Amino acid sequence: MRKVALRDCGQRCVYCATPLDAWSATLDHVHPVARGGAHDPLNLVVACAPCNRMKGDLLPQEFFARHPWAGRHFLRYACTVHRALKRIARRAVSLAFAEEDAASPTGRRRLAA
Ligand SMILES: [Zn+2]
Repeated sequence: MRKVALRDCGQRCVYCATPLDAWSATLDHVHPVARGGAHDPLNLVVACAPCNRMKGDLLPQEFFARHPWAGRHFLRYACTVHRALKRIARRAVSLAFAEEDAASPTGRRRLAA
């Protein structure tokens, strides 16, 4: 299972894009099992141990809202996950970047103009 996921996802951590091998890769449930996620290949990705720990039991929308860069990598590298999870990631990432933009001086100026 782990090998299949590795092959399918470009052999990178889907959150930080670090190259992984069969020893450094861990499996992560995108929607945590502790919060109702399924034991389903469509809910599984490979991640490095630090990202897996950092994500913990956060729902994907919570995790990507906090770490939009992880969401960007996820959209690029998590190629075997359910489409609904990608939709969640896309929404969380665009929301997070929109907020960041509005908070920056250039963003505010653009809003005022
Ligand atoms: Zn990682």
